[in-house]
Amino acid sequence: MNYNVDENGYYGEFGGAFIPEMMYPNVKELKDNYIKILNDPDFIDEFRSLLKHYVGRPSPLYFAKRLSAYYNTKIFLKREDLNHTGAHKINNTVGQILIAKRLGKTRIIAETGAGQHGVATATVCALMGLKCIVYMGEVDIARQEPNVLRMKMLGAEVVPVLSGNRTLKDATNEAIRDWISNPIDTHYIIGSVVGPHPYPDLVARLQSVISEEMKYQVKEVSGKENPDYVVACVGGGSNAIGSFFHYLNDEDVKLVAVEAAGKGVLTGETAATMVAGRPGIIHGSRTMLMQDADGQITEPYSISAGLDYPGIGPVHSFLHKVNRVIFGNVTDDEALEAAFLLTRFEGIVPALESAHALAYLGKIKFREDDVVVVTVSGRGDKDMSTYIKYMDLKDSANNE
Ligand SMILES: *Cc1c(COP(=O)(O)O)cnc(C)c1O
Repeated sequence: MNYNVDENGYYGEFGGAFIPEMMYPNVKELKDNYIKILNDPDFIDEFRSLLKHYVGRPSPLYFAKRLSAYYNTKIFLKREDLNHTGAHKINNTVGQILIAKRLGKTRIIAETGAGQHGVATATVCALMGLKCIVYMGEVDIARQEPNVLRMKMLGAEVVPVLSGNRTLKDATNEAIRDWISNPIDTHYIIGSVVGPHPYPDLVARLQSVISEEMKYQVKEVSGKENPDYVVACVGGGSNAIGSFFHYLNDEDVKLVAVEAAGKGVLTGETAATMVAGRPGIIHGSRTMLMQDADGQITEPYSISAGLDYPGIGPVHSFLHKVNRVIFGNVTDDEALEAAFLLTRFEGIVPALESAHALAYLGKIKFREDDVVVVTVSGRGDKDMSTYIKYMDLKDSANNE
């Protein structure tokens, strides 16, 4: 089975580049150059060096002893939460800023919902001394103040988007408009394995460092050649495909992607695209998509801002279709419980997104000697107010 993108940007029936004609030259320039740059020894040296000395890679693969005892199996955590800026997103932005420089770009644009990708982009722009403009819906700006302040401190210009629902989708449209108007000096950094070809493939390759490290770390820490399971959460799907990438052809490794069910997949308040969606076009590619009968994209819902996306990367739609990856989902409440479980057992506060992957551990029947790798995509500092609210709620319920 071939899991790679084809030369037209397709994974089976999914992917492609459905873009306005005006955007074609920008995308073509990237498409014609990205593989060449990724394989250039100079690029490889600079990327590897920054991953090591700036991001802090390799991230540890940690044996979670008390959590393992609880689930009666062997659980290892891939600690992307320990990266600089606190999540896996920096792997991608470091790679893309180096590509932008090699394409002679001096101006970087990005869109952000929760602000995590905006912060990761503003960070590498400060690092490289490039101008940074981040489009963000007005509603999201109000909801995500700490990240907005961080971006500003890093020197980015945060542009409020007032159109539509004033959230992520509208910010994306604004970023696309900007790119069309500034095709020569500007690179658009997309934050997940979404968007028109070549973005899904480019971001997957940059994030594949996660499973590249797992390959030798699993041997080191577990003694087994391969893990039995690799589990990761999916919003757009970049930490998941990064975690799966080098195991795709090892068919004995079970790959598990966990979506956000929100309040439940049948409630209408969900972000579980594989259950609630059908093929459609979003953000320039054909993929599974939550939409109404007329094909209009519907509002997703999840307690976790990073998983609150109505589509999913086209590679995941394909891996789902050919049954290479098992897709599951967990609700807001299950994710919250799992975040507290990890915190109390291991002293690690995970991001709410990562807590979805952790919660799914309770839904798989493991054997005692299974080696289970879970990617902790980010740390939970940003989710503290949500966690504390939940804790207070539970405490008051217990006192009644
Ligand atoms: C953004 C984010 C995600 C979701 O994005 P993917 O592209 O699906 O990985 C997951 N975890 C954290 C911590 C994030 O910030």
